[in-house]
Amino acid sequence: MAKLQAIRGMNDILPGQSQGWQFLEGIFHSVVRRFGYQEIRFPVLEQSSLFQRSIGELTDIVEKEMYTFEDRNGDKLSLRPEGTAGCVRAAEQHGLLYNQQQRLWYQGPMFRHERPQKGRYRQFHQFGVEAFGMAGPDIDAEVIKLSAQLWRDLDLIHHLTLEINNIGTASDRKSYSAALTGYLKQHSRALDDDARHRMYSNPLRVLDSKNAQVQAILQEAPVLANFVSPQSREHYEQLKSLLADLDIAFVENRHLVRGLDYYNNCVFEWTTLELGAQGAVCGGGRYDGLVEQLGGKATFACGFAMGIERLVLMLESLEKIPHDALKSIDVYILGADPDDAAQSQKLASAIRQQYPRLGVISHCGGGKSKAQIKRAYNLGATAVITLLADSDPACASIRRLDQSGGAETLEINSLVEQLGRFL
Ligand code: AMP
Repeated sequence: MAKLQAIRGMNDILPGQSQGWQFLEGIFHSVVRRFGYQEIRFPVLEQSSLFQRSIGELTDIVEKEMYTFEDRNGDKLSLRPEGTAGCVRAAEQHGLLYNQQQRLWYQGPMFRHERPQKGRYRQFHQFGVEAFGMAGPDIDAEVIKLSAQLWRDLDLIHHLTLEINNIGTASDRKSYSAALTGYLKQHSRALDDDARHRMYSNPLRVLDSKNAQVQAILQEAPVLANFVSPQSREHYEQLKSLLADLDIAFVENRHLVRGLDYYNNCVFEWTTLELGAQGAVCGGGRYDGLVEQLGGKATFACGFAMGIERLVLMLESLEKIPHDALKSIDVYILGADPDDAAQSQKLASAIRQQYPRLGVISHCGGGKSKAQIKRAYNLGATAVITLLADSDPACASIRRLDQSGGAETLEINSLVEQLGRFL
């Protein structure tokens, strides 16, 4: 029988890797808490129409990347390819957006049938924040500041560049798209198949082309900035000045359009050179039309989503995961004799009770003490404890695994009291 395997592009996150994830999650949770954002959770499965109506029928995601199927009732459902649509659906359904401001965050798996490679997967994970009911640009600056704070706390800020652009309103983009299609039509022979296809269906996406010849043609193409309305321009200028006041460095990238239709005005992306081709780690912007588009009242909105796998890859390759975060335990109680089992477990309980932050393993299953010590070492334990059989009062010896302090023999009660000295 064929061996069971995970689906291509869907990764298992194993012990040894999950510590890096937990480190990142812990910092993200602390940042969103400090900025006053509240968690929202919503299903991974939604009606396909939600994504068609929000992300856009003619985007890559909806056209060719969604996992879509009919369930047993014949309902057409899709695994969520991103979080904003589901977040808006949930917030609207439960009345969170009615004349209110909301600052929300989410985290979880997303699904896109893309060609897997390093940093690009079919099941991947995102953190996202969404802020509703604020016209900005102060809130735009806040969500960007929140992401910058995260990079600071992760010590990644010097490896990331903030790119921003103003993509105007939906109607600005409509006029621009028409002008761009007109220009591209004149050069259609020199375009590749992809650009020729997109030139009519979604011309703005041609700007993302990786083909050097297409990029050369785009050098002379009409520029979106010239089609942007004065109000939108004013908003963008204010945002730039706020970012400067907040000491957040940015570069303007006139070709930054993002792959989802619902964005308007300011969009941004944080990119890195550390990850090769998949250099985008976080993208976002305003999407003031989306709530109304999905049946709600017109509501100002902006947010971002960041890719957890890409951030973990960065943290690993730059060795930014602190040694402490990689440890799974602190103390390992060796168990040479099965008769010691009760005493060993009691000692473990006493340590866990007194030091709730420590990880303690009481060895199970017997075996040679050398093998047990190796196991303790591999799990990152700082100290090992050996119960001394037949001692009265009950004693144990403790030693640091790095051999720095030598072994010390103590009565069990005072060992619990004095454990801090060894860690
Ligand atoms: P998007 O929802 O496309 O704006 O993507 C936001 C972020 O999610 C990107 O900047 C990436 O970090 C991450 N991301 C998007 N697609 C993938 C994928 N297929 N695999 C891994 N990360 C992804």
